[in-house]
Order: sequence, then C-alpha cells, then structure tokens
Amino acid sequence: MAFSKFKASRLFDGTQFIDNSVLITKQDGTIEAIVATEEAGEEIEWLDGILMPGLINCHCHLELSHLKEVTPPHTGLIEFLCSVVTKRGFDPAIVQTCIAAAEKEMWENGIVAVGDIGNTADTAATKANSKIYWQNFVEVLSFTDQTASEQFTHYQKQQALLQKALEQRSTPSRTTLVPHAPYSISPKTFELINQHTAGQIISIHNQEHAAENELYQTGGGDYLRLFKIFGIDSSPFPITGLNSIQSVLPYFNQGQTIFLVHNTCMTDPDISWANKWAAQHHIRLVYCLCINANLYIENKVPPIELLHAHQCEIVLGTDSYSSNWQLSIAKEIQSVCQHFPNLPLEKVLQWATSAGARALQWDDQLGSFTKGKQPGVTLLNIESGLSKRIV
Ligand SMILES: [Zn+2]
Repeated sequence: MAFSKFKASRLFDGTQFIDNSVLITKQDGTIEAIVATEEAGEEIEWLDGILMPGLINCHCHLELSHLKEVTPPHTGLIEFLCSVVTKRGFDPAIVQTCIAAAEKEMWENGIVAVGDIGNTADTAATKANSKIYWQNFVEVLSFTDQTASEQFTHYQKQQALLQKALEQRSTPSRTTLVPHAPYSISPKTFELINQHTAGQIISIHNQEHAAENELYQTGGGDYLRLFKIFGIDSSPFPITGLNSIQSVLPYFNQGQTIFLVHNTCMTDPDISWANKWAAQHHIRLVYCLCINANLYIENKVPPIELLHAHQCEIVLGTDSYSSNWQLSIAKEIQSVCQHFPNLPLEKVLQWATSAGARALQWDDQLGSFTKGKQPGVTLLNIESGLSKRIV
C-alpha cells in the first residue's frame, strides 16, 4: 500500500508537540504512524509550519455568511443585534452563494467539524454535499411564553428539514434544538427545549454583554432597546437578582452537554457557581471562545486565563461572517496567543483540535493523530494566522 509522509517545522498530535518526527498516513488520510525522522525512509514531503489534526470550529452561523462587512466593527453588541435583526430581504441566491463559499473556505483552511447555529434550513443544500462533520444547532427564539409553543413547533420543522437533507451523507452529522440566549428565551421556551434535548449537545450564547446580567438582576438595561424592535416594552424575563447564567442554567436537568458561547462578561463567582452546579446536576459544560468576534463587536476579549485557571473544558469557534473578518480557527488561535501570551501554545492547539472533537463527541475519528483515525491533516502558520488542508 502507498503511504504519504509529512515532515513540518513542528508536529502537534492533538495533545503535544512531538519534535523531529514524520507523520505517515494512508492515501485516504487514515493515520498510520508517527515515527522519528531517521526511521521514516524516503519520499518525505517537507512543509513549513505546524502539522496538526484537522481544526474544530465549535461555533459558527454558516447561514449568516452573506452579512460579511454589513455591520461595521466595534458597534457594541446591542447596536449590532439591533442592526442584524433589521437586515432582512437578501436575495436567496446570494445567501446560497455565500453559504457555499464560506463552507469551501472552512474546508480549505483545514476545518473538519463545525458546531453550526441556524434559525433556518438555508444551509441544507451546501451541507448535503459537504465533507465537514456538522453538528447543527437549530436555534429557537421566543421572547415570551405566549409564543413559546408556536415558535418551538416552527423550529422543530427546521430541524426536520435539515435532518432529512443530510441523511444521505457519508460524513456524520447531527441536528439539535438549542436556546439562542438568556435575553431571547422565555421560561416556557427553556422548559420545552430542556424536555426535547435529553442527553444531547446543545449551545447557548452566554454573557456576551454586561447588560445581560443587568436584565436578570433588575429587569432593566440596554437590552430593552432590542425588545422594543419586537414591540415588547418591558423585560419579559423573571427578575432573579442573579447574573444571567445563574438564572438560566437551572432550566436544564436532562444530562445535556451545553456549549456556553462567548462568556465575555462571566465573572469568577459565575464560573465557580456554574461548574459546581453542572457537576451536581449531571450537566457537562463546554466553554466556547470566539475571541475575534468579541474583538469585532465589542473590542473586548473573554476571560480566558480565568476559565483556564478554573480547569474549564475550553474549545474555539469563529462565530459568523456578520461578526468576524474570516471563518478561520487559525486566526482564532493567533488572536488568543497574541492577547494571552502566557498561555502554553500546546493548550491553545488542544482547544482547536482534541478538545473540540471531544466536545462534539467525534473524537473517535477527529482531533488527534491516532492510528486508524481520519482526523484530517492541517498545516498552521501562527505568525500569519493562515492554515491549509494537507489531507
Ligand atoms: Zn453566535
């Protein structure tokens, strides 16, 4: 059988760097071995950069790819949301073209699995023919209890459409229903989502802005501006006197894995409380960081060293083209390293590979250079923030 042999400046196997080594794969990308360079024999392909398993993007909104550069950077989250929700009526052909281009961009830059949020089934056609693993998060929105059942049924239909479109694929995919955010989901809607997601992987945008905490603390704050667009004059959410995470996490008690996305305004006590509460209630928390989106919208960074110090399970995401300059995990790695130079590089690379694969429960194939797996092979250049698929 013919093998491919790769030797790069450095080799990262999903857990650690293994210096002076050659990666050997079968022609179809199945990992055969990592061997010392002296023992690798002839016909080695030499590459400049870090050779690593395929990248895992745990948070994206592929369906928003047509919103590239529509909202300028640094508007702040509330202004950003008000802008995005009022931008409708794009030509469906343009939406489809942008979705297809964004999928191609991710595939070519070495992303092998995506946790992808959608309010529609617009991405179905592209995903049906994609070689990426898709964890689809169909995002439920319902500000009030009055609309909860109707909205939930609507999003169940979107879920069914996506599932049907993707059932012929040979690459794995899943589709689950998820809450959008604490500032858009009423108590009854949370209960419906909890009932229908036992044991599943779900996600929620968490504490992306300080006003989210204020909303649950006092019922006031800047989110009231967003609600006004939907004709809602006062906060439809219970005033708990607590930060948002402490107000909404208790809705979940069905053994879910919950991706908490952003966490920009999460405090030390919030993290301690959330981790303890999750452990006591058999909930698995995964903290998903989208640093470039936070920089794009708020010009802020998430409390990464704090999350790391709490030994949180951390993964990386790009968020969407409405709030990022590109859909590149390489750029996210570069940005994390630039803003947090004390973090070990190995740790950040783990978040982008093995930790992401474990969080999405596809580590049987992805995230590490283990013999017999087909994790994809990516070449990363940290200085330029560029990556490309090798296999
Ligand atoms: Zn998002």
